[in-house]
Amino acid sequence: MTYDPDNIFAKILREEIPSNRVYEDGETLAFMDIMPRADGHLLVIPKTPCRNVLDASPEQLSAVIATVQKLSQAVMQAFDADGVTIQQFNEAAGGQEVFHLHFHVLPRHEGVSVRA
Ligand code: ADP
Repeated sequence: MTYDPDNIFAKILREEIPSNRVYEDGETLAFMDIMPRADGHLLVIPKTPCRNVLDASPEQLSAVIATVQKLSQAVMQAFDADGVTIQQFNEAAGGQEVFHLHFHVLPRHEGVSVRA
């Protein structure tokens, strides 16, 4: 599987389309999901090209997971959440729709369900 440099998240990285950025460091970017399934639903991506977990380098994975952890802790506080769901899909059969590696971070509240 190849990396398409014109995928939506690559365009967000190049600021060719707008996004609501909430965090950035040397290796990663986080922005709000355009169709949130929960208040505070955000996405974390590596800045370098990567289709999904299947072709990610250990360095890309560790940088992205470190940001996922940091922002999971932040949304627990910011949204007074009871928990956090971290989701990640690989290839179309695995539920992936945008082919640049990303992790969903969803703040969760007791008794409130979200779409899968
Ligand atoms: P799924 O759509 O099944 O969750 P993905 O894991 O590939 O599959 O998720 C793509 C996510 O990207 C979706 O949650 C979608 O709402 C989000 N998304 C698509 N376009 C944008 C955009 N321009 N800005 C922010 N989020 C986007």
